[in-house]
Amino acid sequence: MTERIVIVGAGTGGIVLANNLAEELATEIDAGDIEVQLVNDGEDHVYKPTWLYVPFGEKTLADATRPLVDLVDDRIDLTIDRVDGVDTDDKTVSLAGAGVDESYDHLVLAMGAQVTPEETPGLAEGGHHFYGPEGAAALRDELAEFTEGHLVVSVVGVPHMCPVAPLEFALMADAWFRDRGLREDVDITYTYPIGRAHGIESVAEWAGPLMDGRDVEVETFFNAERVDPDTKTIHTVEGRELDYDLLVAIPPHDGSDLVREAGLGDDGWVDVDPNTLEARGADDVYALGDVADLPTSKAGSAAHYAAGALADRLASIARGERPTAEYDGKTVCFIESGTDEATYIAFDYEESPTPKPPSKLIHWSKLGYNRSYWLTARGVL
Ligand SMILES: Cc1cc2nc3c(=O)[nH]c(=O)nc-3n(C[C@H](O)[C@H](O)[C@H](O)COP(=O)(O)OP(=O)(O)OC[C@H]3O[C@@H](n4cnc5c(N)ncnc54)[C@H](O)[C@@H]3O)c2cc1C
Repeated sequence: MTERIVIVGAGTGGIVLANNLAEELATEIDAGDIEVQLVNDGEDHVYKPTWLYVPFGEKTLADATRPLVDLVDDRIDLTIDRVDGVDTDDKTVSLAGAGVDESYDHLVLAMGAQVTPEETPGLAEGGHHFYGPEGAAALRDELAEFTEGHLVVSVVGVPHMCPVAPLEFALMADAWFRDRGLREDVDITYTYPIGRAHGIESVAEWAGPLMDGRDVEVETFFNAERVDPDTKTIHTVEGRELDYDLLVAIPPHDGSDLVREAGLGDDGWVDVDPNTLEARGADDVYALGDVADLPTSKAGSAAHYAAGALADRLASIARGERPTAEYDGKTVCFIESGTDEATYIAFDYEESPTPKPPSKLIHWSKLGYNRSYWLTARGVL
């Protein structure tokens, strides 16, 4: 009988997993013993890190997408549809468009994270963000017109995708306005919910003096409760108020209703074993990438490395062997610290990161990686 692996979501985690499985299980798939189905609710694969560059006019939205059919191995059954239900007792997922249930022997959830600006009153109306295509394009237009005033970069929701992206945005904005001779007319404030500039202590220690030297004001213990778009004021849980002329906010994030409804995680993030990626709430269900509740960053690199480990595990299981591969939390994040320099951090569940001094070489390495990302998506890198 054919064994079916169903993957929901063809973002970084899902596509790398599918292409790795196509390679590792090529013989079994060709023989009809195994089927791998990859379900995604859109025809394109989206490389979200590109959106950081869109507001500064360095990339376009088109740079962030490629058709899935060009990236997914022919051995994979690529299905463009939205999964709107998961039944872990019957071992089926329901496809909203086709109106059918697909059975699975092994199910991998890789639906990513959703941004929910509407959760904070006034934020959608009063703020901008670069965490989605429309937001990044609107912010590009707004920045192009912004020649003086107070720019506030505010981390409203944690956890959020790419924990270093707000820092990058603030430092890139500083350099961008300097390059245009406007920096003296633009004040920049960066806010963060806890008592330092970043959740990772070593990153906060690195970023604090850098922001200070660049004249970027840092406000900590700053938890936005609501935004008043008329007065252009952010009101915080702590009772503070901050006026802005342009607000760039990292919106609250949410996991998936599918996860809550299937009883796999109350907050919408799948409760998983951090090493095996097995869901704790059901048998033969796994999760990786942003939708998994893992003790590491919600980062594409984490999804990529987890997908490699999970592909090895699933291939072993499908062949009736004991799986030995485990995900160790490996995560690598480049951090732009201006418009022409960057650093990076690398860490796992055991090792904390140490940011290196920023350099042009690392900046060009980040841009080079972004260009070659499509090879990662294809499972080549
Ligand atoms: C501005 C920005 C900058 C970033 N920069 C970096 C960076 O420099 N380095 C880094 O490592 N990470 C970065 N990230 C984070 C990175 O993009 C994410 O961590 C990564 O995309 C997570 O991969 P994923 O596969 O879990 O989810 P995603 O890539 O979000 O993919 C999820 C997929 O599932 C689909 N889907 C969702 N629900 C359903 C459903 N019900 N049915 C079918 N399909 C569904 C979605 O359409 C999507 O295609 C950045 C993110 C942002 C927003």
